[in-house]
Amino acid sequence: MNAQNQDFNPAFIHSVSKEQAWHYRILPKDNSPDGLVLLCDEDVDRSQLADELEIVLGKSIVLESHPTATISMLLNKHYLKENGQHQFQKMTAAIEGDGFLNDLIREARSLKSSDIHIEIYEERCRVRIRIDGMMVERYVLKRTEYPALINKIKIMANLDIAEKRLPQDGRINFKNGEEQFDIRVSVLPTLHGEKVVLRLLNNNAANIDLNHVGFSDFDLANYLQGVKRPNGIILISGPTGSGKTTTLYATLKYLNKETRNILTIEDPIEYTLAGINQVQLKESIGLTFASALRTFLRQDPDVIMVGEIRDPETANMAIRAALTGHLVLSTVHTNSAWGTVSRLMDMGIPSFLVANTLNTTVAQRLVRLLCKKCKQKEDFDPSLYPKQFKPFAPVTEHHLAKGCEHCYYTGYSGRKAVYEVIPLDQELTFEIKQGNMYINPLLEARGIRSLAENAFALFASGDTTIEEIYPLLFTN
Ligand SMILES: [Zn+2]
Repeated sequence: MNAQNQDFNPAFIHSVSKEQAWHYRILPKDNSPDGLVLLCDEDVDRSQLADELEIVLGKSIVLESHPTATISMLLNKHYLKENGQHQFQKMTAAIEGDGFLNDLIREARSLKSSDIHIEIYEERCRVRIRIDGMMVERYVLKRTEYPALINKIKIMANLDIAEKRLPQDGRINFKNGEEQFDIRVSVLPTLHGEKVVLRLLNNNAANIDLNHVGFSDFDLANYLQGVKRPNGIILISGPTGSGKTTTLYATLKYLNKETRNILTIEDPIEYTLAGINQVQLKESIGLTFASALRTFLRQDPDVIMVGEIRDPETANMAIRAALTGHLVLSTVHTNSAWGTVSRLMDMGIPSFLVANTLNTTVAQRLVRLLCKKCKQKEDFDPSLYPKQFKPFAPVTEHHLAKGCEHCYYTGYSGRKAVYEVIPLDQELTFEIKQGNMYINPLLEARGIRSLAENAFALFASGDTTIEEIYPLLFTN
């Protein structure tokens, strides 16, 4: 973006109403001796616009042109719409000029967004981006502008632009100044046209660190105890988007030493790690999690990371790798750390093999953190807890998510993982062999904090809201 935040001064935001800002595509910048300085769209006839605005606003006007996409970005940011009714009159020019797509990707990246959704409905088209796990609508496009944008994406991702009936997957390597990153492209034919999702991948894991992903000191110590063992399976469970991959990468970074041969099979490769042999899953040519694992065992590995265990074949191969003296890291789709045990048995692994190979089982979720700039303290009313919930500690004050320009009016900024870490010891492996699924007293005796307890701690400390942790209070 050419116009950065400092080009727009929020102090003047009230000199132009939201409706005026969108209608004329203008943003107030400053008061100068010559009049109110406004940023405007370079595609608009300035002399006409100035005349009209002087009448509408009742003062002298100085106009400063900026690219269409920049103005769109600033309008979306500072004059956030309430119901998505704004029209983007100038979007066509932006799309034809290649600028819109590039600016959109750069904007999403700068907002630390993970996905861009480009969607078409009967009446309208829109662009939404996911920030901190929540979808935010950013742009509304005209239906006539839509096909050109989709074609542009397909060309960049080397996809067939003539194929509009079948789903397609591709990849874009995007250069943004010094930075370079991959984008996974998924095209899905829907009722009214093709929907595109762009997943922005991270090219380096430099900022990922086991000390900063969200483990409590106690949980981290327990987790590292398992990670330092030379063999066994470490499984991270949680739904999609719970940050499991980040934990795995942080663990790989921790293990990444010259003395270890580390192999991964992933879908997709979200971060690249120097010194680690990373393989992209490609099921269409038979390169599956299970087949890669089979080959890995002939590659003299120390540590193996498998993106996900989702079928009996992969589960079997992972068990075999662990039994033959390797450390295996993977993820599994279960709701709780102990639920992983029954999930493996459901996939046909006998309980004694689960007991002999499972090294550490972890559950995790991501919790959004309150924006520090706008969170608002208030007395807490315990009736806000779920019925029959017993708080882990008394809470008398809590914070509300208000929303400000720093957090795009969501009230939240950033996320933190909440964990439950169960290191398997002799007594617990014995319970697995016995098929005993109720082990809460054993966990309590070990001081192991549940997901609910760790999430509650984030609420009690004023880092998040009761709404954000509410679903987690029901786990266990
Ligand atoms: Zn805020």
